[in-house]
Amino acid sequence: INLHKATFTLSAPDIRRLPEDSGIEVAFAGRSNAGKSSALNTLTNQKSLARTSKTPGRTQLINVFDIGDNRRLIDLPGYGFAKVPLEMKKKWQKSLAEYLEKRLSLKGLVVLMDIRHPLKDLDSDLIEWANDCGLPVLALLTKADKLKSGKRSAEVLKVRKECQKLHENIKVQAFSSLNRIGLDSANQIICDWFVY
Ligand code: GDP
Repeated sequence: INLHKATFTLSAPDIRRLPEDSGIEVAFAGRSNAGKSSALNTLTNQKSLARTSKTPGRTQLINVFDIGDNRRLIDLPGYGFAKVPLEMKKKWQKSLAEYLEKRLSLKGLVVLMDIRHPLKDLDSDLIEWANDCGLPVLALLTKADKLKSGKRSAEVLKVRKECQKLHENIKVQAFSSLNRIGLDSANQIICDWFVY
């Protein structure tokens, strides 16, 4: 398994328009601006596979990236953007919950959270839904370069403790696209999900 092989496949307006539910996929979710696009680019070692967002919350498309052998990375729309109408937020939450629940090829969920603002409402909800679905989670605490190493480690421990209350099978890892903190561990965990 090599995430560097990722190529763009398609953008889907909703979960019904995703590729056939076979093989293995790993999905990436997070609040707008959490650093999801940057993390995807770092993990796949590509400059602009995922678009880093200039207007947070604007893109509501699901992006699919193929890594070969019927394996896919799924870039879910960022959530939590204040200006999105409540109606749209509810719709998205419902379809996200449905995706986690029904998608058979989904074998792991990466939840990206800014290490300085982890576990906001929707983050915790999402982690709990994943637990209810028996779906393993990797919580990536992004922009880890923003904290000095002592504070960073303390934050990881704190968030790990909180996450373990929400999910039985969750890993929590500091991550930085800027200086590649946590890249090898994150890559390893994700690649393990891609093995049958
Ligand atoms: P997305 O909306 O979740 O896809 O987030 P982006 O990847 O577009 O990143 C949002 C903002 O955070 C951008 O200004 C990025 O430059 C910045 N950012 C992303 N990752 C990092 C990181 O690891 N370190 C730092 N310092 N900034 C980051």
